[in-house]
Amino acid sequence: MSFDLASRLAERRAADLFRLRPLLQTPQGPLVQVDGQKLLAFCSNDYLGLASHPEVIRALRTGAERWGVGGGASHLVIGHGAPHHELEQALAEFTGRPRALLFSTGYMANLAAVTALVGQGDTVLEDRLNHASLLDAGLLSGARFSRYLHNDAVSLANRLRKASGNCLVVTDGVFSMDGDLAELPGLCSEARLKDAWVMVDDAHGFGTLGATGGGVVEHFGLGPDDVPVLVGTLGKAFGTAGAFVAGSEELIETLIQFARPYIYTTSQSPALACATLKSLQLLRDESWRREHLQRLIRRFREGAAGIGLSLMDSPTPIQPILVGDSARALKLSALLRARGLLVGAIRPPTVPAGSARLRVTLSAAHSEEQLEQLLEALAECWPQVQGDV
Ligand SMILES: *Cc1c(COP(=O)(O)O)cnc(C)c1O
Repeated sequence: MSFDLASRLAERRAADLFRLRPLLQTPQGPLVQVDGQKLLAFCSNDYLGLASHPEVIRALRTGAERWGVGGGASHLVIGHGAPHHELEQALAEFTGRPRALLFSTGYMANLAAVTALVGQGDTVLEDRLNHASLLDAGLLSGARFSRYLHNDAVSLANRLRKASGNCLVVTDGVFSMDGDLAELPGLCSEARLKDAWVMVDDAHGFGTLGATGGGVVEHFGLGPDDVPVLVGTLGKAFGTAGAFVAGSEELIETLIQFARPYIYTTSQSPALACATLKSLQLLRDESWRREHLQRLIRRFREGAAGIGLSLMDSPTPIQPILVGDSARALKLSALLRARGLLVGAIRPPTVPAGSARLRVTLSAAHSEEQLEQLLEALAECWPQVQGDV
């Protein structure tokens, strides 16, 4: 037997790293049913509560009636429909860039952008804590690949000095497991000194940061010269699915011509593009969701500090509670679950060894009362995971 899968799986189980898929039996929202149990969830990336919004659902339904369900073919053949085109124009306008290109997932958008821009003889520099899809994209590109210390402009500058060929600097806008922001002003100015391009994947910043939900670049007041390649995903605050790359006319045309993850795949459902047009409008115009979310974030951090939890330096709806040990993180998650609360334990290899955590995520759909329930449960459960496991 060449493939000893059973022992691989047994090893993973023994290391407290075995992953299970909770079965969701209701739509996304604060109150869910999972594996038959009614729970209050703090682990979805539906930050604005748009995944189950009635107007978004209606847009999907009328979109399907008008345009059908399937994309039918690649964008280059006959899959590029009017709703996709309209959504791209709206996303370009939203991001203040000449053009935007739609993808079916953020994973694919990242593979596409990096592999179309750099290859053998070039250099790609990434933050150590970047999302897995960005790291995979860097490896796949064939460019010289190096990771700089988290958010460290000096570490980036050292690597920029040794770079050859075209150089792409790639970072998450909001780090998905820590919730902190990329220190873009410093990173961008180092890149500019060396004529390197900066690519930001702002999967968690769009909708949650910036006055109009324009994400981390809006938050820092940066433009296309600072960040020529801007990626957003649609499955988080937008509440739908898919992703986009926004940038110059030439950048987008280059992706259309050369990016294999763009060319060799069927376009997303046109009905989904109709739904995203509606969620984009809600995300931009109804800023009360961001304001409510900010109040929840402030209250959570204040309450957590009172309990003595170790939080991370995060101004975003991602509020991890650092536990350290994987078994202890699982125990805290289980204790909360026994009290009717669902918060996921995040363990290596998703996060560095010894930094297992509970990844609390807040949503504009949560009420202040629901947040108090979480804080009360944490106050009871946290002492029980101190000391022995
Ligand atoms: C979720 C996420 C992705 C992947 O996006 P999908 O649309 O879910 O494939 C990419 N980058 C970051 C930073 C993410 O958090």
